[in-house]
Amino acid sequence: MGKKKSKPKKGKKPTKNKKTSKKYSKYKIIGDKITREKTCPRCGPGIFLMNSQGRVYCGKCHYSEFESKKENKEDKKEEIK
Ligand SMILES: [Zn+2]
Repeated sequence: MGKKKSKPKKGKKPTKNKKTSKKYSKYKIIGDKITREKTCPRCGPGIFLMNSQGRVYCGKCHYSEFESKKENKEDKKEEIK
């Protein structure tokens, strides 16, 4: 492990990277088939749902859906005794 030298950056404005739409990442090509992630039933195909902790959420129409196919025992950590 070498020394880490970090020069202080003076007069340099931090560049803000714009968020890029990652719609392409929602498409997966397996063989010659294209599979899509879950799309919004309200907005229709093309609008993908955001996945977060067993929930899916549409950022456009705020539609949300719970996925309770699997029982996560870890989710019961915050049980009030
Ligand atoms: Zn939607």
